[in-house]
Amino acid sequence: MSHNLPEERMSQLVARLRRAGLRATRPRILVLDVLDRAGGHLAADEVLARLRARGFRLSRATVYNVIHSLVSSGLVMIADTGPGRMLLEPARVWHHHFVCRECGSVIDVPCVVGAKPCLQPDLPGAEVDEAQVIWRGRCPRCVMRSATGGGSHAETISSGASTTVIDRRAFGRPGPMAERH
Ligand SMILES: [Zn+2]
Ligand SMILES: [Zn+2]
Repeated sequence: MSHNLPEERMSQLVARLRRAGLRATRPRILVLDVLDRAGGHLAADEVLARLRARGFRLSRATVYNVIHSLVSSGLVMIADTGPGRMLLEPARVWHHHFVCRECGSVIDVPCVVGAKPCLQPDLPGAEVDEAQVIWRGRCPRCVMRSATGGGSHAETISSGASTTVIDRRAFGRPGPMAERH
């Protein structure tokens, strides 16, 4: 477990923070790095757990404060996936989310417009900041699983381009096992 990021990576993160008008403190650099690496959506507690797993001793309060500053500066977005845990992701192109009702995975869906607001309401005189679309249904993986006759016992913790799936059937035991892919 490395306690230091490679220099090039470090200066890249520092530059991003400064461009957003933030002081490049070590906790900010580390949190941004974790969210980048995740390549998907993470809850704040998962960010904290990953930092600790990598040997960084940051308090929960520090991590939450850092997340707050990264969100207000626009470097990190809160993925709008409806009620439930707040999911974070590095701010990239404006997009929407598909939430699987069966396994809970959250999948990025490109926005056809690519900028806010991508929909205008029939509300003359209103000033719109953004429109958020959440698709709900069954993800391709769950549809495939039922089509091939396999029972579904998957629970997804969080996801995105990377999905964290707990598949009890695959491991043949009831305890949770995480698999990244
Ligand atoms: Zn699913
Ligand atoms: Zn997303």
